Amino acid sequence: MSMSYKILECEKCGYTASEFSLWGRRAYCVDGLDIPMYVRFGWCARCEELLAIESFEDADETLKEVDEARADLRRHLDSTLAPLLGLLLPGRRKAMANAMERLHIGIRRLHVIARHRGTERCLSCGSREVVPFEGNMDLPYDLMSRSYLGLRLTGFVHPGCGGIFFAKPSGLCINMVMPRRWYDFDGLLIEEKWPQ
Ligand SMILES: [Zn+2]
Ligand SMILES: [Zn+2]
Repeated sequence: MSMSYKILECEKCGYTASEFSLWGRRAYCVDGLDIPMYVRFGWCARCEELLAIESFEDADETLKEVDEARADLRRHLDSTLAPLLGLLLPGRRKAMANAMERLHIGIRRLHVIARHRGTERCLSCGSREVVPFEGNMDLPYDLMSRSYLGLRLTGFVHPGCGGIFFAKPSGLCINMVMPRRWYDFDGLLIEEKWPQ
């Protein structure tokens, strides 16, 4: 499916960054498990670009997921018939395994957040000299034309330039094939795989 995307443009110097640099699935590979990685825009002093950086804003949401997975597991374990049902019903075994995996992944994600929040990396060069994008880049979306409309001053200042970024529609719909990327616990790229 083709998607429209937004552009951030500095009102002073005209530098632009495309939202599609945030696209694509990314994960940390920790102990053989894929731990989700979330990204946001950030200004990288080394790349001198507005690019995808690590984002750790999901702590509350992830804690909630861990609690829910624990509660699910507790329900399975508390049932007096649990061992028998577990043997008899593959569906039930699968549900338990699923709760365990959610718990595992959630706890490891919290581990990543606790260790790295405040020291986000640029995902292009690995530098930690980044300024996370703090601003509002919301634009109205028109379902008919499947594109964004209007302009918005985001409030985020272009570091070293002083101009303010505004958000605007790209005016294009692209059908972009994105790679999957895996990073180590430290946030450094291990592997990039493009769909065949
Ligand atoms: Zn600028
Ligand atoms: Zn960089």
